[in-house]
Amino acid sequence: MKPSSLRFGRVAVATALMCAAMAAAPMSASAQVSTYDPHYMVMDPPIIYPGAVVRIMAVPPKGATGGSVRLAGREFGGFLEKGLLWVYIAVDLNTPPGPYRLDYTMGDWQGHRMVTVRDREFAEERLQVSSSFVELGELTLARVEREKARLDEVWYSRSPERRWELAFLQPAKGELGSPFGLRRFFNGEPRSPHSGLDVKADTGEPVFASNSGRVVVAEDQFFTGNLVVIDHGLGLYTYYAHLSQVGVLAGEIVERGELVGLVGATGRVTGAHLHWGAKLGGARVDPETLPGIVLSGRPAVEPDDDPDDKADDKADDSVEGSAEGAMEDSTP
Ligand SMILES: [Zn+2]
Repeated sequence: MKPSSLRFGRVAVATALMCAAMAAAPMSASAQVSTYDPHYMVMDPPIIYPGAVVRIMAVPPKGATGGSVRLAGREFGGFLEKGLLWVYIAVDLNTPPGPYRLDYTMGDWQGHRMVTVRDREFAEERLQVSSSFVELGELTLARVEREKARLDEVWYSRSPERRWELAFLQPAKGELGSPFGLRRFFNGEPRSPHSGLDVKADTGEPVFASNSGRVVVAEDQFFTGNLVVIDHGLGLYTYYAHLSQVGVLAGEIVERGELVGLVGATGRVTGAHLHWGAKLGGARVDPETLPGIVLSGRPAVEPDDDPDDKADDKADDSVEGSAEGAMEDSTP
């Protein structure tokens, strides 16, 4: 049997079952039963930017014990609390702006809304680096492919339980370095945009779990060096790269603020720093948008700064930061 006729056969059976169910129940109720339009459904923040976590809160239909949302080809699981369905969603860093259909399922009910992904400008960094930093040999490429496939398996799996409750924490003390989404050009060639947020810290400084979860990766990889990935549930992960030492094992449960390793310069980097990343539903998201986060590492800005001066300072900083060595090639 051809696959198409098999599929058609299934549809025919499903339709027959549905007709039987409708015949047994009053028409008015059963015709509407699968569509649900919550009278309260909000997004916080109300605007979707590429790489930013958004919280959806909605009143679920009576009897629904959970729900999920689909957006831009990704699925996000939710949980019930205080009479509301809560779902954290995001679109990837590289998602083109425009209208998108957001589908939701709550128990046996479903519906959709149209949402807009806004355009977000990311800073650019152009650097001259030695060619040995960007060119990879055949064996290395094979390794990189293997490691990417393994991590993709992690990012696209989703533990059904939420393992965190309180706000996410900045995992290491220090000023923030290269921001999330920074578009990098090495020797004029575009590289992967910066997938995380860098914290300026010296080798040996402690790195803490940003929130509670289960360690799913604790190993050495080519780009990231010593890498720890924590599964927080519902498809949300944080990871910690370039560690000089890993203090946890895969499979371990860690509490928010627990030591997971030490800052280092392992992997494809030119100096010590913490690369801190987050993934939600497989999308690369900005750790600065994780639920409840308050960051301590942004350098203070003088209130009377001239805007032009500030722009100059910023440009100087990024070059200086790289010269100091807190720079890496692609991370996941
Ligand atoms: Zn980084």
